[in-house]
Amino acid sequence: MRKHIFNAGPCKLPDSTLENTANAVRELGNCGQSIMEVSHRSKDFQAVYDEAVSLFKELLNIPENYSVLFLGGGASTQFCMVPYNFLKKKAAFVNTGTWSTKAIKEAKLFGEAEVIASSEDKGFTFYPKDLQVPADADYLHLTSNNTIRGTEFFEDKSYDVPVICDMSSDIMSRPVDVSKYAMIYGGCQKNVGAAGVTFVIINNDFAKENLADRVIPTMLKYQTHIDKDSMFNTPPCINIFTVKETLKWVKANGGVEGMEKLAKQREEMLYAEIERNSMFKPVVEEGSRSRMNIPFLMADGKEDLMSDFIAFSEKHNICGIKGHRSVGGFRASTYNACSIEDVEALVACMKEYETLKA
Ligand code: PMP
Repeated sequence: MRKHIFNAGPCKLPDSTLENTANAVRELGNCGQSIMEVSHRSKDFQAVYDEAVSLFKELLNIPENYSVLFLGGGASTQFCMVPYNFLKKKAAFVNTGTWSTKAIKEAKLFGEAEVIASSEDKGFTFYPKDLQVPADADYLHLTSNNTIRGTEFFEDKSYDVPVICDMSSDIMSRPVDVSKYAMIYGGCQKNVGAAGVTFVIINNDFAKENLADRVIPTMLKYQTHIDKDSMFNTPPCINIFTVKETLKWVKANGGVEGMEKLAKQREEMLYAEIERNSMFKPVVEEGSRSRMNIPFLMADGKEDLMSDFIAFSEKHNICGIKGHRSVGGFRASTYNACSIEDVEALVACMKEYETLKA
């Protein structure tokens, strides 16, 4: 029986992604070969790749002068690739938790990383607003959704310097004004596919004109991948297939506007229950709450029941709500494919637990 999956990534994918990928593993279309066997230079795979790129562009309304790349190495490789390519002297960062901290650490290998705002003093429970960005920064690096802490911003703003954003865990969950960003990147394993492929949306002029004056290995240069349409080396073919299938599902379900509507609904349902239920309490301040990752704790005095509630939820066919090991408590990750029925099941389970234990 399929579970109610609240994993943080890899996470729940649409049924159509699973079914169509399973079919393509047996045979891609009618080409007599599996998606795992077919050449990445074949017309059969080229069609998969082209559709994935064009759906990405269409759904996010990406302007003409941007490239969409599918690379390996995870978003974590982007933490070093970005400064390798574009940090000349100094980059500005907003520190909102584990992932931005990792990006800052890598940037320091190449130059100065100035933290212009941080939510660390309040345990990363809010998203800093009203940023003052130094005019001499080569770029500003943001993390739009903090997967571990459950904070997120929803407004795409212009700054005086180019903006680069890690959207690993909220891409395709709302309309994004891509023109406000020089580059957006992320792992695909939350909202857009299976683990193993990284998306990069990059302004072609920015990539050319802002290159740092240092020797960069070929594979770590964005221009290499822009010039070769992500085919400089063998791309993660099957993962690109899962992206294509997932984006087809996003399109069929109202596009990013449809995804945003569902995301708001899921978040409202779950936060309403966390606030109402005497057994639990929220973590993140109102106004900074993520729609994708919803952390919560046992209410004061009930902390000892944490493992008990995890076991209870598992008996109710719910999986993945244990909080990140660095934070504890619970975290329900409610990405695009998480259905209203999944959230209803979790809410019902929380209600039942209260009836039994309060
Ligand atoms: N950034 C964010 C916001 C993430 O959530 C993650 C992974 N959970 C990463 C970066 C790292 O991604 P990867 O594991 O693909 O390297």
